[in-house]
Amino acid sequence: MTDRLELAARYIIDEIGEDVEREGLVRTPSRFAKAWREITSGYDRTVSQIVGDGVFSAESDDVVIVSHMKFFSTCEHHLLPFFGECSVAYLPGSKIIGLSKIPKLLQMYAQRLQVQERLTREIGEAVEQVIAPRGVAVLVKATHLCSVMRDIQDHDAPMISAYTSGLYREEPERMEFFRRTVGYGN
Ligand code: ZN
Repeated sequence: MTDRLELAARYIIDEIGEDVEREGLVRTPSRFAKAWREITSGYDRTVSQIVGDGVFSAESDDVVIVSHMKFFSTCEHHLLPFFGECSVAYLPGSKIIGLSKIPKLLQMYAQRLQVQERLTREIGEAVEQVIAPRGVAVLVKATHLCSVMRDIQDHDAPMISAYTSGLYREEPERMEFFRRTVGYGN
């Protein structure tokens, strides 16, 4: 066996006292390797690849919101999943980004080893980089299996993280975004 992910899975299975040769586990290392290549496939993509020519002239300066996008990511501290919803709002400058691009950017960053705060910031910075909006706000609400599965106190409280820039640093816009994403639809 030369696949090092498969080898790593064999070590884990063996180290916890299981029998890697028993029927239910014998193909687990190869399944593990395949699954891990999928959930970390975000390293193979870049912002410009994803956005491509999906940038258009803005016809309005009103807020654009993409809300409650689901995502699944992997906590870099425990190599366990965290997952939840992400909402993005921006106030366009001269450009807007194709709406389908924002979920794809989210997926790209989520399919890397992450901490929730960095995931939140990276999405905001990608939107800034691509369309230079007057302001962007990102809100992420997630459940972390590294605390839920291990029964740490208060584990059922989802973690909320936010990133704001530009006009969203000013109170009215920021509060409106929070009202629409946190207080609405949950
Ligand atoms: Zn963790």
